[in-house]
Amino acid sequence: MALKNSVWPGCGRKIRHKIAMFEHIKCFPETADCGKEKILIKVTIGTNKIQTGLKMTMKRPSVLDILKHLPRTNCKECGQAGCMAFATLATQGKQELSGCPYLSDDITKEYSEAFGKQKSFEQQQAESLVFVQEKLKDIDFDQVAESLGGKCVDEMLLVECLGRNFMLDKSGNLHSECHNNIWVQVPLISYVLNCKGIELSGKWVRFDELENVMSWSNFFTHRCEHVFRQVADEHTELFFNIIGLLGGKPVEQQFSSDYSIVIYPLPKVPFLLCYWREEGEFESTLRIYFDKSTSYNIDVDSIYALGRGIIEMIKKIILRHG
Ligand code: SF4
Repeated sequence: MALKNSVWPGCGRKIRHKIAMFEHIKCFPETADCGKEKILIKVTIGTNKIQTGLKMTMKRPSVLDILKHLPRTNCKECGQAGCMAFATLATQGKQELSGCPYLSDDITKEYSEAFGKQKSFEQQQAESLVFVQEKLKDIDFDQVAESLGGKCVDEMLLVECLGRNFMLDKSGNLHSECHNNIWVQVPLISYVLNCKGIELSGKWVRFDELENVMSWSNFFTHRCEHVFRQVADEHTELFFNIIGLLGGKPVEQQFSSDYSIVIYPLPKVPFLLCYWREEGEFESTLRIYFDKSTSYNIDVDSIYALGRGIIEMIKKIILRHG
C-alpha cells in the first residue's frame, strides 16, 4: 500500500509518521451496524503484528436517522412545525436535539456528540451556575435563612439537602461532605433566589398540576419519571436503599402504591416517590408527586434539574457499587 495515497480517517499525524517508518502496512476499515466507523490500523513488521491505532468516529446523523427516533406525532412541543422540520433543523445545527422531550437521553447524547456542538445537561448547568452565583451577591442570608428552612452559620447559609448539610457561601460555592455536584448546586442557589417561603400544604399533586409548568411537563415525564422507573425496575431493592441513603423516609401508603417514600432535595421542595410493581398484565409505574406549594418556592427549571440530578446520581452509585 502506497503511504502517500492512503486515506486513514481518525489516524493522527503522529501515528502516520510512525507507521511511515515501517515497510508493510495494512489498513482495515470496518463499518459497525450502529453506523459508527471503526478504523483499525495494524502494522506488520516481519511476522509481528502491532495494533497501532483504534479510533471510533461517528457519522453525522441524517434527517432520516433522527426521524426514526421521533414519534412523528407532529405535536409541536419542540416549537417547530413538526417532526420533519425538527429533524431538518437539527441536522443544520439550528435546533438543539434536547428540544424534543420524546427523544431518548441516549440518542440525544450520541447524536449531539456526532454534531459536535450541542451541550450536555452538565454543561448547561455549569453555564447557569455562573449566572445564579452572580445574583446571589444581593441576597442577605440572615434575612432569608428562616423562610428557606435553613439557618445562617458563620456568614454562610446552612441548608439540608437530601439528608445532608450543605453550606453555601456568598460567592455561591457549596461545601458539603458528600454528593456536592452541579445538579444540586444550581437548583439550591435558585431556591435561595426565588423561594417565597410558603409553608408546605401537605397536599400532593402531579408535576403537571403545579403552576406554570406546562411546557416542561413532557420533559419531566420522559427524562425524569421514566428514568426513575427504569432504574427502580432494574434494581428495585438497591434503588430504594439508595433513596434511603439520600434521606428518603417511607410514609403511609399513598395513592395505593407499593412503595411511598418522601425525599427532601430542599427543605421546602419534597418529592414523594410512589412505585407500583409490575402485576400480571399491568406494567410497573413510578410517579413523582410534589407539595402543592412547590411552584412558589422554586422555579420549574430547578425542579426538573433536581429530578435529573437525583436520578443521574443514583445511576452513578449503582454503576459503581451495583
Ligand atoms: S416535540 Fe418531538 S414529537 Fe413533537 S413535533 Fe417536535 S420533534 Fe416531533
